[in-house]
Amino acid sequence: MVTGCRIEIRGTVQGVGFRPWVYRLACSTGITGRVANGADGVLIEAFAPPGALDAFVERLRRDPPPAARVDRLTCLPIDREAPPDFSIVGSDASGERRASIPPDLATCDACLAEILDPANRRYRYAFTSCTGCGPRFTIALDVPYDRATTTMAPFPMCEACQREYDSVLDRRFHAQPNACPRCGPRLRLETANGDAVDGEGDAIARAARWIAAGRIVAVKGLGGWHLACDATSADAVAELRRRKRRDEKPFAVMVADEEWAGRLAVLEAPERELLRSVERPIVLARRKHHAPVARGVAPDSIRIGVMLPYTPLHHVLLRDAGRPLVMTSGNVSEEPIACDDHDARRRLASIADAFLGHDRAIASRTDDSVAMVTAGRPVVLRRSRGFVPRPVRVERPLQRPVLACGADLKNTFCIAKTDGAYLGPHIGDLENLETYGSYVDAIARMERFLGVRPEIVAHDLHPDYLSTRYAKAREGVTHVGVQHHHAHVASAMAEHGLTGPVLGVAFDGTGYGTDGTSWGGEVLVADYAGFERIARLRPVRLPGGDRAIREVWRVALALLDDAFDGDAPISRLAVFDAFSPRVVETVRRMIAGPVNSPLASGLGRVFDAMGAIGLGRTRASYEGQVAMAWDQVADPSERRPYPFGVDTATTPWSIDLRATVRAATGDLVSGRAPGTVSARFHESVIAATVEAVRLAARARGVLPVVLTGGCFQNVRLAEGILRGLSPTFTVHLHQRVPPGDGGVALGQALVADALTRRD
Ligand SMILES: [Zn+2]
Ligand SMILES: [Zn+2]
Repeated sequence: MVTGCRIEIRGTVQGVGFRPWVYRLACSTGITGRVANGADGVLIEAFAPPGALDAFVERLRRDPPPAARVDRLTCLPIDREAPPDFSIVGSDASGERRASIPPDLATCDACLAEILDPANRRYRYAFTSCTGCGPRFTIALDVPYDRATTTMAPFPMCEACQREYDSVLDRRFHAQPNACPRCGPRLRLETANGDAVDGEGDAIARAARWIAAGRIVAVKGLGGWHLACDATSADAVAELRRRKRRDEKPFAVMVADEEWAGRLAVLEAPERELLRSVERPIVLARRKHHAPVARGVAPDSIRIGVMLPYTPLHHVLLRDAGRPLVMTSGNVSEEPIACDDHDARRRLASIADAFLGHDRAIASRTDDSVAMVTAGRPVVLRRSRGFVPRPVRVERPLQRPVLACGADLKNTFCIAKTDGAYLGPHIGDLENLETYGSYVDAIARMERFLGVRPEIVAHDLHPDYLSTRYAKAREGVTHVGVQHHHAHVASAMAEHGLTGPVLGVAFDGTGYGTDGTSWGGEVLVADYAGFERIARLRPVRLPGGDRAIREVWRVALALLDDAFDGDAPISRLAVFDAFSPRVVETVRRMIAGPVNSPLASGLGRVFDAMGAIGLGRTRASYEGQVAMAWDQVADPSERRPYPFGVDTATTPWSIDLRATVRAATGDLVSGRAPGTVSARFHESVIAATVEAVRLAARARGVLPVVLTGGCFQNVRLAEGILRGLSPTFTVHLHQRVPPGDGGVALGQALVADALTRRD
C-alpha cells in the first residue's frame, strides 16, 4: 500500500543543492512525488509504502548535503493520488519575493579533490564550484538568484559545463556559478601599473613565488581584495604594516589546512568546527608559544586570527606557498575593503607589489567574518561573508517592513519584514566618505534583493551619528529612535527567540543614553517595547570627550580621582610619568568641571583606564586596544575579587567600583604583578554584576538574563558572569549575532516594530 506525506523542512536548505539532492535520494529509493522551495524552506510531497517513507524521512533528517542544515522537519499525512514519478517544481513565483540569494559557501571536498587532481579538467581552476559550494551573495546582482542576474552572466557555459548544469543527476545541476577553464573567468598576475608578471607556471604559482620572496601581493577574493604576504617573515609583515599604515591591529592568517591551523593556535573541538564550517570565518584562538608566524602578525595579542581557504584560488595559493599567509583586508587604514578592480589598483598601488586578479566582478563588498568560542559555544564577532544574507528568524512577525540603520562603529544595518531579519554585511566605522558611500549602496542593494520599501526607519539616539542622519533623511517613513543598550538587549532576545521581559546586562564602550550622557554599564529590565534602567555602573568623566577614548591615561586619571577623592598616588604610577604636572593639572581641571568632560558609564572605558594604570599604557592605537591588553594579561589561576559595592539607594542603582580601583591601585603600587591585579579586577566586575542581577531579580522577579555589548568579547568576563548566575538564572550569550555594535541593528528593528505596532 502506498501512503503519502507532506514534509516541511526549515533551516539552511535553499541555494545549497538541497532540492536536487532530495530528487536523487527519492529516485534512488523509489519515492514518487515532488519537491519545491517554499517561503521558509523546502516542501516535499512523498509517496511510497510506509517503511520506505520512514527511511526517506530519516535520511532527510540525518544526512543532508554538507552546506545544508535541517533545523526543523515536520511530516503530515496527506490523502492524494500518488504521481507516477518524482519531480522538482520551480519556486512559487506568485509568492512573496524573498531573499532567495544564499550566502557564499566555502569550497566543498568534492570540488577540492577535483582542483588537486592533475587529470581533472578543473585542475588548479580557481573558479570551480558546485551546488554545494561557491560564491552566491557576492556575485548576485539581482533576484531571483539565477546565472543571468549574477556577475557570471558574461561567461556562457561551454558544452561540458552546460551538460552538468542541465543534468539533475549531476553535482552541478543548476549550479549558477558553474564554470571551467574553457569557459569561465580567468586569473592574471600584474604589477600595479598593469604589466603582466611573467614566469613559470600559472598566475597562482607566480603569485606564490612572489609572496615567498617577501613581496606583498593583492589577491582578489570573494567579497573584496586581500593583501597577502608571508606570515612567517618578520620583514614582510613589518613592511605590510608600514605600507598599510596599520600600527598594531592584528592581521588574520590563512593556512592551508586544519593541521597547519593546529600548529599556530590551540584548537579545541568547537574552534575546529568553526574553522571547518561552510561560513569559514576568521577564528580567534589562543596563539601557541612557538607558532611559526612572525610576532608582528598580532603584536599585542595572546590570540591569533586563523582561517582556512574558502575558494579554490586560496587552496591552490596556500599549497603553492607552503606556509601561512597574512590575509588582511585590502584597504588603507580605516577605508572600506577594495572590491572594484580599478579602485583596488588605485588605492592599493602603494601597498601591493603585484595584483592577482580576475575578470569576474564582485557585486557586493563583503569582508571576512570573525568568530571565537566562549563557554564552549561559537560567538560571531563580525557577521559578514558566509552569513549574509541569511535571515535571523523572528518569533513574532513584524507588521511593517523596518530598516534599522545600526550604530556608527562596526556598523551593520538590518532590514526586517514578516518573520525574517536580514543583517547586511559588515560596513565598518562610519567615519569617512568612502565607508558612508559603501553603507548607502549596501542598503539600497539589500532593499532591492528583498523587494522591500521600509515603512519604518530605526536609528540610534546619538544625534551626530552618520547613521542617524541617514535615517532622518529618508522621507515618507516613520522614524524611531532606539536607545543603544535597549537595542543590544533586544538583539540578544531576538537571537534566542525571547519575548521578554528579560534582565539585560549591556556592557560596552559607549552608547547615547536617554539623558544625553554616555552609557555602557547597564542592567536593564526590558522587553521589545521598553526598558527600565535598573542599575548602571557609577559614571566617570571623559576629560576631552572622544579624545579620551584613544588617550586612555585621561580616563585613568578620572577613574583614580573619583576612587581616591582627588588624592590618588599618581606619582607612583608609571602611566603618568610621560606627562608634566601642568598637563596633568589641566586634565584634572576638566575632570572637576563640566566643560568638555562628559559623564560616561561604559564598562569599556573602565577597562581602558585599568589597562592604562596596570600596564603603564598612555594611549590606544585603536578603540579598545588597551582594554583588550588588560583582559589578556589576567592570570587564569587567580580568582579572588577585590571589594566592590552596589548602591540601591539611588535611582538607578549604582554599581560602584571605587573600592575595587583603590585596592587594585594599592596592589600595583606595592609591586604586585599586573596579571594578578587584572585577574582580581575581572573577578570584582563579575561579582558586582552577579550581585546587581541578583538584587534586580529580588525586586522584579527571576527573569531570563541576556549578556550583550562589546565587552562580552572578553571571554573571562562572559564566562565568569555566566558561571556566577547559573543555575539560578537562564543566561543567554550571543552566538550568531555579534555582541558588539555589529549586532545592534537587529535589536533596533524589533524595538521599532514593537513601538509602532497597531495591535
Ligand atoms: Zn563544490
Ligand atoms: Zn566550461
